Amino acid sequence: MTKGTSSMGRRSRGKTHIRCRRCGRHSFNVSKGYCAACGYGRSRRIRRYAWANKKVNRVRIV
Ligand SMILES: [Zn+2]
Repeated sequence: MTKGTSSMGRRSRGKTHIRCRRCGRHSFNVSKGYCAACGYGRSRRIRRYAWANKKVNRVRIV
């Protein structure tokens, strides 16, 4: 198996993340059962961190 045309047939085997039904992002891990972006399935509270958003002129941009 090479990394060219012959291996392209193997590319559609399973998926790690599907669309999260709470945040809508494509971050819900199927095997682990929780969302990597908002923590859905892991905790009831939304996963959010201060470092996860950018601050411009000391004002947080969500
Ligand atoms: Zn989510």
